[in-house]
Amino acid sequence: MSKWVYTFGNGKAEGAADMRNLLGGKGANLAEMCNLGIPVPPGFTITTEVCTYFYENGKTYPAELKADVEKAVAEAESILGKKFGDSANPLLFSVRSGARISMPGMMDTVLNLGLNDDTVKGLAAASGNERFAYDSYRRFLQMYSDVVLGVKHENFEEVLGTMKKEKGYKSDTELTTDDLKELIAEYRKIGEKFGKPVPVDVNEQLWGAIGAVFGSWMIERAVTYRKINEIPGDWGTAVNVQSMVFGNFGDNSATGVCFSRNPSTGENAFFGEYLRNAQGEDVVAGIRTPQPMSKASKLSMGSDLPCLEEEMPELYKELADIRANLEAHYHDMQDMEFTIQDGKLWMLQTRNGKRTGPAALKIAVDMVHEGLIDKATAVTRVSAEQLDQLLHPMIDKKAEKIKIGAGLPASPGAACGQVVFSADDAEEWVKDGKKVLLVRLETSPEDIGGMHVSEGIMTERGGMTSHAAVVARGMGTPCVSGVEGLSVDYENQQFTLGGQVVKKGDFITIDGSTGQVYLGKVAMKQPEIVGDFNEFMTWVDELRTLQVWTNADTPADAEAARKFGAEGIGLCRTEHMFFAPDRILNMRAMILAKTKEEREDALAKILPYQQGDFEGLFKAMDGLPVTIRLLDPPLHEFLPKTEKEQKEVADRLGVDLKDIIARGEELKEQNPMLGLRGCRLGILYPEIYYMQAEAIMRAAVNMSRAGVKVIPEIMIPLVDYLKELDMMKEVVESAVQKVLAEENADIAYKIGTMIEMPRAALLADEIAKTAEFFSFGTNDLTQTGLGMSRDDAGCFITLYKDKGIILHDPFASIDTEGVGQLVKIGVEKGRKTNPNLQIGVCGEHGGDAASIEFFNSLGLNYVSCSPFRVPIARLAAAQAAVKAKKV
Ligand code: PEP
Ligand code: MG
Repeated sequence: MSKWVYTFGNGKAEGAADMRNLLGGKGANLAEMCNLGIPVPPGFTITTEVCTYFYENGKTYPAELKADVEKAVAEAESILGKKFGDSANPLLFSVRSGARISMPGMMDTVLNLGLNDDTVKGLAAASGNERFAYDSYRRFLQMYSDVVLGVKHENFEEVLGTMKKEKGYKSDTELTTDDLKELIAEYRKIGEKFGKPVPVDVNEQLWGAIGAVFGSWMIERAVTYRKINEIPGDWGTAVNVQSMVFGNFGDNSATGVCFSRNPSTGENAFFGEYLRNAQGEDVVAGIRTPQPMSKASKLSMGSDLPCLEEEMPELYKELADIRANLEAHYHDMQDMEFTIQDGKLWMLQTRNGKRTGPAALKIAVDMVHEGLIDKATAVTRVSAEQLDQLLHPMIDKKAEKIKIGAGLPASPGAACGQVVFSADDAEEWVKDGKKVLLVRLETSPEDIGGMHVSEGIMTERGGMTSHAAVVARGMGTPCVSGVEGLSVDYENQQFTLGGQVVKKGDFITIDGSTGQVYLGKVAMKQPEIVGDFNEFMTWVDELRTLQVWTNADTPADAEAARKFGAEGIGLCRTEHMFFAPDRILNMRAMILAKTKEEREDALAKILPYQQGDFEGLFKAMDGLPVTIRLLDPPLHEFLPKTEKEQKEVADRLGVDLKDIIARGEELKEQNPMLGLRGCRLGILYPEIYYMQAEAIMRAAVNMSRAGVKVIPEIMIPLVDYLKELDMMKEVVESAVQKVLAEENADIAYKIGTMIEMPRAALLADEIAKTAEFFSFGTNDLTQTGLGMSRDDAGCFITLYKDKGIILHDPFASIDTEGVGQLVKIGVEKGRKTNPNLQIGVCGEHGGDAASIEFFNSLGLNYVSCSPFRVPIARLAAAQAAVKAKKV
């Protein structure tokens, strides 16, 4: 029989850190902290299996649960010597969600549970602080109504606001005990008005809250968050019921959030924020400006408020010891929540902290140096997305800019976009192809979709641990929070800052690394790759077995890719070379040629250009393989489309306008992705491939004579039949042999093929009789394997989503069950014919981390991706190798 409830408290727990699937991250870590002897308020965790049961059984609970919960409540009561619902000295609980992976602010929480008109008096008497007791009570009524009963916050805020206005108060702390009692009576009336009063019975309260947490697993914002973060819906959440400790007990109390290292920069300094005389929600809600933890974080935040290290040095020391203890135990940077109640420190939570890309890198490298983790672990600590952040643009220091303000550097990187004031507008505008910058008073979990599509986020309020800051860091989106002097005016859809009025649609630029805000578009620069990055990447390269090549069509791209660590060119798309303005005319002459001779004449004019291009590529990749693919796209793509252009071409080439139009019609494909393209072109017009092969070999000979080590690999696209490849190989060979004989040279080369048609993948053993290498073109293989284009896929994903079906985007990460199987068969069959067959991938998937893991598992030799993805692919390949070793 399943065990549904796990207790913790008083230095021992039934759970442990490795039970996160069952207890959720929060529950598992509470148990672990307890077992480590760290002070944790006692309580219990209801498992994720109960959540699964709940949804599988019409929102009901297992029969034993009631008794188990009663027993666990009794255990907490006995540890603390208090009773739940007691009118003399009541025990109160917090009820919180806790999934396997933290979903910050996504699900519901109820605090101060167990208060009613009776127990509030007990709390007042026991604490000797009547005001505190009634303040907790009115907070509870509001929170419970909102979270459990669905009576919105605003109803209560309005009453509170009216009272403060009438009494001339500026802040909540000015409310007297009598005011609070009056407010509570008003709050009760709101409950009655909506027919949803907060239950008086404390057990009824508890079960209401437990139900609300399980229910919150399926609310829209949680579902959206899971989709964005690819968290399966059937994992479920646990519910943590924990005895309350109070940070709002008076001036000797506080509550805070802290990180064992700086989550923004990675610096090894205790970092965080706290508020005196407050509850946890006040810190994250960003309504009051929190104080820094330590002298170090005070400096890095540029705060002049007193820090905990100064205000409560003893407690700071205790907390700092716990920090060291937890980091040494978890071997990772910790994100902790704590409360000080009347001078006693309690830990409410610890978890591995979210961090920016630069912080992830620095922490991983530092921890290896400190002997906390090994290199293989370090490599798994930086995600592909985080590494990507390091490759993101930064503000060009020399750029002209008009600074209009500054806030906290909440999430690094520079971003520029058109200002919008709501998450919905952000989503709308991005759909129209615009780049937006989301400006909010502060963000809340409902904004998640809009935050995800925005280039950057700026908020008027909130600290480094506010919702905007935490979520933006996780997404790698630049964010500046708590902007000094910013005044957001939703009504008029504008903001003022630094004396400027900025309207919806105007451009601004923010720098999330420094907190600066600029008017208009500011020039940006690619970051320099130095220091920690290089050291980290040497570990990455030691660990991986999969090579990383690049897709590059120009020497400049090739050079950039080489700097990023590319080990070859896996795909040079030669058609890009024909589109250049100085060449397209000859290309058009070639297409319009009526005879083979005319065509050869035009091609002869193109040859020197091609040769020059290839020479540049060989030189840039000195000593590394350069895979050049012969012409692939349908010819009509090169012909002029508008009437004006057609006339111009007719004039310049001295041909009839109607011939141009007719040829265009003749060559037009119903579906430009199919038809007369790839090797079919080469078969119909062998002189094209002949010219290209000749240009490749002439370039190779020239460069080789200039001292460059050339490794040419000639690639035939879109092959379906072995016969096609054989025919094209013959054409290429004859050109190659002609050049080598003429030049009296000897250069090793390979002729291979793309595998990008399902037939070729299924019959790869045949194709491998001729092909000296395979390169999987997963773009075409996905289109033809699934029968959909990229746009179709995007469209179906949206359509299906509306029907509640989640489709994986096969163009983003390879569809391992479909297209991936074609690759797998292709590899197996190809290697059956030729065990040493060199195999790579040059479709977009070659730069995608999840796809790379799959390709690694198939034993491919390399992946090839765009230059800026090369470091990410190297990292993904290393992570795949580490993971494969562990399995
Ligand atoms: C492919 O099909 O995956 C490929 C790399 O070729 P292209 O994208 O040029 O069709
Ligand atoms: Mg292709």
